[in-house]
Amino acid sequence: MCHNIIDGRYHRECGHFYAMATRKQDCLKDNCLFSTRHEHPTGCRSPSCIRVMSLPVRNPIRISPTKCSACRDIFGRITQPPTFERNGQSN
Ligand SMILES: [Zn+2]
Ligand SMILES: [Zn+2]
Ligand SMILES: [Zn+2]
Repeated sequence: MCHNIIDGRYHRECGHFYAMATRKQDCLKDNCLFSTRHEHPTGCRSPSCIRVMSLPVRNPIRISPTKCSACRDIFGRITQPPTFERNGQSN
């Protein structure tokens, strides 16, 4: 079965994973609809053909020991005052 591989950055401190690129891992089976080797490229009706992809696999190409920027943002916003909308100008 084919599956997607998600390359990304893993933040060890918060455990978040940020996808940077997705690529497909071809299983090269002739009975898999997602494979380039699939023997029925158009109008496949074979019940023995695989019609689902496996769950995507995360591939951390970069591992950061810190929190991600979103998590750092959350903690930053708590200490910052809320922003006010400007009422002065209207079209
Ligand atoms: Zn496949
Ligand atoms: Zn087929
Ligand atoms: Zn995070």
